[in-house]
Amino acid sequence: MKRLNPNNCSVVVFNDPKEDCTQTLDLIYSVFSNVVVRSRKADIIAELKEQQQKETTSTLLLIDAEACHMKSSEDCPDLLLQIVHFLRQGLLTNNVTRYHVERSEKITQNVNQVSKVCLSEKDSECGEIWAKFKGRLKGVFRQEHCDRKDYLQAQICTWDFLPLDLDNKDLIQVVYMILSQVLSTFDELKALRVPSGDLYHFIFDICNSYHSTNPYHNFRHAVDVLQANYYFLCRLGVLQPMDPDVSFDPVESDIKNLFEPLDIFALLMASIGHDVGHPGVNNSFMITTSAPLAILYNDKSVLESFHAMSFFHLLREHCFSQLTDLRSNPEYATFRKIVVNSILATDMSMHDEYVAKIQDQAQRLKRKEIDFTDKATCEKEKILICGALIKCADISNCARPFESAKRWAKILAEEFFEQGDLERELGMTVLPINERGKIRLEDFQLTFKRFVALKLFESVSKVTPCMQFTVDQINENVDIWEEMKLQDKQQQQKQSPVEQNSNSPTEKNVVTPNNIPPQPSPEGKSSTSERPRSGI
Ligand SMILES: [Zn+2]
Repeated sequence: MKRLNPNNCSVVVFNDPKEDCTQTLDLIYSVFSNVVVRSRKADIIAELKEQQQKETTSTLLLIDAEACHMKSSEDCPDLLLQIVHFLRQGLLTNNVTRYHVERSEKITQNVNQVSKVCLSEKDSECGEIWAKFKGRLKGVFRQEHCDRKDYLQAQICTWDFLPLDLDNKDLIQVVYMILSQVLSTFDELKALRVPSGDLYHFIFDICNSYHSTNPYHNFRHAVDVLQANYYFLCRLGVLQPMDPDVSFDPVESDIKNLFEPLDIFALLMASIGHDVGHPGVNNSFMITTSAPLAILYNDKSVLESFHAMSFFHLLREHCFSQLTDLRSNPEYATFRKIVVNSILATDMSMHDEYVAKIQDQAQRLKRKEIDFTDKATCEKEKILICGALIKCADISNCARPFESAKRWAKILAEEFFEQGDLERELGMTVLPINERGKIRLEDFQLTFKRFVALKLFESVSKVTPCMQFTVDQINENVDIWEEMKLQDKQQQQKQSPVEQNSNSPTEKNVVTPNNIPPQPSPEGKSSTSERPRSGI
């Protein structure tokens, strides 16, 4: 929602004249210069229209919901519905912000009634202005405060989680809810419990450490990875889903028993910090341009080393400084090991190597070769599976339900293209994957799933069979991408059969195992270490 400027904003207050609101109104008058108070629905609508005539930048509509509920149970939702109706008709185009402090159960029901109307609308039935406003109004009408928390709680516990539809406030809340659940669940983490204000402060700084201008590698991606790992840990049975309506089949596994509370916390912390400060270009770009970071880290996992280092600085500056002081707190050595190793594991140039290690782990498990009574062995296996889980979470876009996977795929492609634009401007070689319009999204996705993602998810599913659902979803998505590709080809053939037969752009862009384009990775990082320095 656009920030309201008190000097450039009108305020329309809907209240019950019988209620004494003098104090509240005085406060409003002291902040805003243009305030009108009305107590009839019709007057409110008229006032909003009038404000629009004045071309006021924003109108803040304050509704004394309790008062209007007492006056008439239907008035409030009716008013909101009418505003929605006017917006849809294009009769009102001002910013309309709804705000109220308290509400009764009845009012909650009414808000939900408005919410249902908002959500049930099909875009095709609405005007252009409504379509534009719909997104902005979602946060206003759909849920807020306690409703919003319930909504986010349900979202966190579903594989259909889609942070692309959440604003920063929600994303911060998601992180807060996950971290505070873990900290409050386990007594072993008592020493790490911090006041909620401090935890929020830490999360705000993490959020600010991501570049919001990156199409893909921003805080939203970090929250996505965090939720994916939270979900995996719930499926594995080491965490209880925070939504009481969600439960998973119990899992019996030795791997599950490796996870201690601090390990769970470490993996989740690594998830939220794993791309801190990501510049929106990949390791290869950093190395080719001799970026100071590449020099500092000797061209090895440049960005990942940077993310891990930056994240530990953030921990040290906030309420988790004890996690970074191993001299005073040697018990946190495993925390650091898991966080650093997990973040480094997200370097896609090590992908195949990592997949091989997971396959070996699956074999060791199958042959019962792991000595779970040996502490050092347990730690080694645990660090390996944590790395595997964060890798899965990091590229989990392609294993999400198709519509979400498709939206992420487009955003990732945009970040690659922006790197390509930059490379072109700098006179560098631009790889096809970074070139706009060069490789079809379908081909890009199919190649990535077949040659990169499936290998990882299948291996991890052998170690923890509760991850099999990701493999099934990837296979389902592959079928849909194939179908889309086929339809596109047929469409092109219909439009231009001669051109298609001679030089089909579809054929031209088909990716074969012998002609794999630079392996696209959601991290925008190289997936083969032998790739030339000018590559991804
Ligand atoms: Zn990432």
